[in-house]
Amino acid sequence: MSARVLVVDDNEANVRLLQAKLTAEYFDVITATRGEEALTKVRHERPDIVLLDVMMPGMDGFEACRQLKEGIDTRHIPVILITALNQREDRLRGLSAGADDFLTKPIDNVQLLARVKSLARLKVVIDELRSREANGARLGVIDAEQRSDAIEAKARAPAQVLIVDDNDNQARRIAQALEGEHACARYDAPATHFTGGPDLLIVSLAARTFDGFRVIAKMRSGQPTRHLPILAVTDAGEPERMLRALDLGAHDFILRPVDTEELAARVRTLVRRKRYMDALRETLDQGLELAVTDQLTGLFNRRFLMTQLEPLVLRASCGGDQVAVMICDIDHFKRVNDTYGHDVGDEVLREFAARMGSNVRPNDFACRMGGEEFAVVMTKTSGDVACLAGERLRRLVAGAPFIVAGGRERLDVTVSIGVAATEGRDETAESLLKRADEALYQAKRGGRNRVVGRRPVRAA
Ligand code: GH3
Ligand code: MG
Ligand code: MG
Repeated sequence: MSARVLVVDDNEANVRLLQAKLTAEYFDVITATRGEEALTKVRHERPDIVLLDVMMPGMDGFEACRQLKEGIDTRHIPVILITALNQREDRLRGLSAGADDFLTKPIDNVQLLARVKSLARLKVVIDELRSREANGARLGVIDAEQRSDAIEAKARAPAQVLIVDDNDNQARRIAQALEGEHACARYDAPATHFTGGPDLLIVSLAARTFDGFRVIAKMRSGQPTRHLPILAVTDAGEPERMLRALDLGAHDFILRPVDTEELAARVRTLVRRKRYMDALRETLDQGLELAVTDQLTGLFNRRFLMTQLEPLVLRASCGGDQVAVMICDIDHFKRVNDTYGHDVGDEVLREFAARMGSNVRPNDFACRMGGEEFAVVMTKTSGDVACLAGERLRRLVAGAPFIVAGGRERLDVTVSIGVAATEGRDETAESLLKRADEALYQAKRGGRNRVVGRRPVRAA
């Protein structure tokens, strides 16, 4: 997997060295020698990952990292800080500045590639989510302001951490280090204090009674746990095992004996990142729902109807199953509004939608086309059967009054329905809807409160 990496170091020789190592692995490398320059390059050249030296004259790496993580347009870009060996204080400061990861000088090749590859993989997912979100914003189905509020609120909530470790001492230390901020549970104890599933998994690769790698692999392949961040606990000096854990899908690792402050900081970063991705996914789902449903009635909307109907009609025209539609228009609906007001009109629309929804089969779908016009698409259905379904709906509406305005009004409502089913090879969604519309018009002209089916006009 390739990615664009920005290497920032005030020492030219270090820059060249990193550039050579990364270029050899087919990464696209850009460089900067000062913190200020790094911020400008991030904005203009959109790197996927930033490798940032801590010690630089002028703006140091911590400050540059902090500014990147504060920028709305840049905070999603993973930052790896490069610190001097054994500078524990620096690592902790870096994590609180929002760094995603660390490398210590002299830089070990295996570590470098492991970290960069793991973050490049993550960045691909983030980019995909962000671009879908941007599309949603353009379509007007995602509210950007609501989204950032949702992310903020979520990012602050305490996390639920599941510890998978058979070493009692180590598991206890980990739990104690996190307990103030998060809720922790051992994998073999019931997590009664959890609401829903965990937000993070900490897996020991040094366990004797189970295979930590297998746990990671299993989590990655299971649908509900696929996005769960995993922090692997591993021994120093075992680069192959670290790489294997990352390859299997661990997001990060920490060396034994576990430094509790580093652990707390890494957990904070992983949880923040997960929350960010969750919030993106959630607003996408909401946006998707908004894009396909009608707000007043909860039925599908016209846009969704068309996306579903077109392929169904195409299949039918190629010899596949017949598809029928009915278009339903409430009779004299304007009078309801005029007599009882718009709000009662809305109530009637909702009640109508509910009766309609109760009358469709699982594979059919009901939509609001707009105003007081509705439609039902019926798969594997002939025109005759669709007319029977229409008649059933007509009776369901006319058969019992609509109780509205808090029970004070009982309205007699009727509906006119036009039905058409696919016929022949030239059928399109438009021609089918047009025939149903003509049938509806006929039903209105014929006196309303009735169902009319329309077959295509054939040349003699
Ligand atoms: P017909 O029997 O010929 O269908 O008569 P009608 O009064 O139902 O039809 P017309 O198209 O003249 O009027 C439809 C009315 O529906 C006009 C419009 O104000 C109202 N309407 C459209 N959308 C909504 C809505 O979302 N809520 C409410 N309350 N009224 C709506
Ligand atoms: Mg009407
Ligand atoms: Mg109308």
